[in-house]
Amino acid sequence: MILPFMRKILSVGLILLGCLTQTHAGMMPKDELDKLFEDQYLVGEIQADLPVYPLFVKDAASPDSKPELKAYVFETNEVVSVRGYSGKPINILVVIDLSGRFLSARLLDHKEPIFLDSYGTSKLTEFAAQYKGLTVRHSTEINKASDTPSRNEQSAYLRGVHRGTISAKAINRTIMSAAAKVALAKLKINVADHFDEKRAENESNNQNLNSDAKPVVAPVQTETKLADSSKPNTAAAPEEKIPVPDVTVKNLLASDASEKTSGKNTGKETEVKNSDQSEVAENTVAKDLGNDSLPAPQNISEKNEAINYLSEDQEARREWINLWQLRWLDIAILLGGLFILSLGLIAQKRFSANSARFRIVRSAYLLFTLGFIGWYAQGQLTIVNITAGLESLTSGGDLSFLMNDPMTVILWVFVGVTLLVWGRGSFCGWLCPFGALQELISLLANAIGIRQKRLRSALDAKLKWVKYGILVTLLASLYLAPRFAEQAVEIEPFKTAISFYFQRDWPYVLWAVACLMLGVVVYRGYCRYICPLGAALASVNFLQRWSWIPRREACGTPCQSCRHRCEYQAIAPTGKIDYSECFQCLDCVSIYQDDQRCLPLIQHRKAVGRVIPVASTLLPATLN
Ligand code: SF4
Ligand code: SF4
Repeated sequence: MILPFMRKILSVGLILLGCLTQTHAGMMPKDELDKLFEDQYLVGEIQADLPVYPLFVKDAASPDSKPELKAYVFETNEVVSVRGYSGKPINILVVIDLSGRFLSARLLDHKEPIFLDSYGTSKLTEFAAQYKGLTVRHSTEINKASDTPSRNEQSAYLRGVHRGTISAKAINRTIMSAAAKVALAKLKINVADHFDEKRAENESNNQNLNSDAKPVVAPVQTETKLADSSKPNTAAAPEEKIPVPDVTVKNLLASDASEKTSGKNTGKETEVKNSDQSEVAENTVAKDLGNDSLPAPQNISEKNEAINYLSEDQEARREWINLWQLRWLDIAILLGGLFILSLGLIAQKRFSANSARFRIVRSAYLLFTLGFIGWYAQGQLTIVNITAGLESLTSGGDLSFLMNDPMTVILWVFVGVTLLVWGRGSFCGWLCPFGALQELISLLANAIGIRQKRLRSALDAKLKWVKYGILVTLLASLYLAPRFAEQAVEIEPFKTAISFYFQRDWPYVLWAVACLMLGVVVYRGYCRYICPLGAALASVNFLQRWSWIPRREACGTPCQSCRHRCEYQAIAPTGKIDYSECFQCLDCVSIYQDDQRCLPLIQHRKAVGRVIPVASTLLPATLN
């Protein structure tokens, strides 16, 4: 009685804790920016209209000259809220010059689950660094990690991140959307105008540039009517170094806001010839130095801002629709697999009537789950999906960030429906790649004569609580100790075994192998005692109302055949099924129909001296 009650408490707690978690705000205070840029720029005051800092340079040869506005620096988290695979924003420190060119893009913080270690973070950092030299007007596409990046004056093909398409796309949208917003507000460059025309033009250009590129479409940036369309595009070639000012400016206090500095210390840096931009620059200098008599630097209308936001949303939608189209074959195979599984589970008795044939079919399906869903299509559901979804919903976002991962969306929809019908077993028993890996290893172990140990019922019941403890700790730490939570999710070995094919730092590999070895000793030991995702699914298993496993009066008293054969120890001595621990392996359904293993059928067979028909409806009433 206590266990179902605790599971309900847990499911409520899961929602409440999700409500408490918050996303991160900006990370770089002004003094840190001062330190970071002290050799290149003087950092001005944060702008009132948008949380960006102006960057000035000063001619070292004439210390009394006024500083010249050269760029803006901002944290993307402060400007836009594009969610990554974790459901949380990826924070990047971006510097753009007055022509809308990226001088740098440095990853500050992220929560992308499979890139949390230093190696993974370095991959995302490398990806973000590729924006240096591009402009807000560039259309960007993300190639494979193995492809050579290329760029021209309008388009850039960036080197993707292995196993990180969704994270790379999130970084792309984060940088380009944030920069577009800053460009609109501070530089009078509106990237929303002529959006569709430019897209069509770029797509046609892109085909010429790189016909092998995987067409993952990123935001297309176009210039506004306000900007000078005759101004040459300042995109740098890949190998081109973006010049940085060579003069250190230490003191702005003595400068004169009404004059312009020569700017010779910027080397080859692009000169701002556009009169609007010059005006913006000049006004901003004055404002930042405390001269409020001058007008605000930009008169960008609210309407234009609205257009920009709309484009961002449209772009996100376009992006995931594009991705779903690209992966149509994967999606079709997955849907086909789910359809076959659904048919099998609906017709469970027929499906499992012949136990030898059923074992072969089940093993084949587990191979499909591991090989296709897991290793190939990367459709491993994880506890991170749950925490990220809750976090997004409770911080005012939605679940649209998940749409970039069609496998995950389809699987979660299927799991949601089957949870109500059959319980967590449909996923854990059939569709979890790591679960399938454990089971296949157990089968191999059995084939060479290694049998899993069956724990005493009391010990098994106690150990099953461990996973709930892990789940509660993990969820609580999301709120109480987020840094710990980032590491704690590594208790799931999915990332190591499925996402990275065991190619990670040795402690992670060791842990994944240990979990698999546990399954050799105790059947699906990780699933039954450790897995927080399994615990989360089991904790909402009370929603499942249908007792779909056929039972007889003799189940439990006197027959214990199913119970002793249930490898998951999910059948009570009374014969009652614990659906939250049932993995829907259908072994007991098979036994139920087997007059060699089901005691009432054996007795009946012996009594009548003939084979009992398989269909339960044909059985004598006493056996039903
Ligand atoms: S308990 Fe965890 S590892 Fe096992 S099948 Fe379920 S989700 Fe997968
Ligand atoms: S044998 Fe156990 S795990 Fe398998 S379907 Fe029956 S109760 Fe569920």
